[in-house]
Amino acid sequence: MARRKKIYEGKAKILYEGPEPGTIVQYFKDDATAFNAEKRDVIDGKGVLNNRLSEFFMVGLNSIGVPTHFLKRLNMREQLVRSCEIIPLEVIVRNFAAGTMAKRLGIEEGTPLPRPIVEYCYKDDKLGDPLVTEEHIAAFGWASQQDMDDILSLALRVNDFMSGLMYGVGIKLVDFKIEIGRVYDGDYQRLVVADEISPDSCRLWDIETGRKLDKDVFRRDLGNLTDAYTEVARRLGVMPANATPMEKPKLIN
Ligand code: 5GP
Repeated sequence: MARRKKIYEGKAKILYEGPEPGTIVQYFKDDATAFNAEKRDVIDGKGVLNNRLSEFFMVGLNSIGVPTHFLKRLNMREQLVRSCEIIPLEVIVRNFAAGTMAKRLGIEEGTPLPRPIVEYCYKDDKLGDPLVTEEHIAAFGWASQQDMDDILSLALRVNDFMSGLMYGVGIKLVDFKIEIGRVYDGDYQRLVVADEISPDSCRLWDIETGRKLDKDVFRRDLGNLTDAYTEVARRLGVMPANATPMEKPKLIN
């Protein structure tokens, strides 16, 4: 097989040139990093789980009319996505206080928020992805006002979809981060949900027990990360091909 051209290697994924112009192959690695890569490890099977879970969420979003970059899964670790210009923002949606917001504002983790709070961080590893306001985004030209309206609407639609899906399998969606890409269709451009949606980029707590089923297990040394991600996949009925099949969970109407 011909060697593929690597476009970019990040902390958890590698991007290769896709088979058709305008496509990219997204490869999910087993590497886990936290605290701006100060903490790192290789977690067997994480990439396979995130590839499947991200596919599941993106396909669901596409099916309810929320545009994403996802085209199809290629194999255990790779998916074909539309190439897009990533807007240099991490878009964070929070339903409960946790993580950096809980710390910054002195609010106890788990406190329900009266409405979803959307935050923006400037994507720059060297600066540690600092929190920015819409004033910074406009002043430095990272996105236009129209983009910001569309980003907010996408973020809230993803939140509604993901919260409902998770609630149906007994999981609380505490918060999550998405990235937004710009795609061009002829003379038109539109925004799509890009990158990945997985337990690496969400906080997921078991509704009954409060058990953490996301990357905080790694960040805070709370146990086995693959077990936590497998539990999320099992509940959603998204199983890696080599895992033991289990009964699909019943969704609560
Ligand atoms: P916090 O700001 O509390 O650290 O994170 C808020 C949410 O966004 C969490 O669900 C966290 O996993 C996600 N998040 C924030 N920054 C990053 C990042 O750089 N990479 C990933 N994968 N997720 C992030």
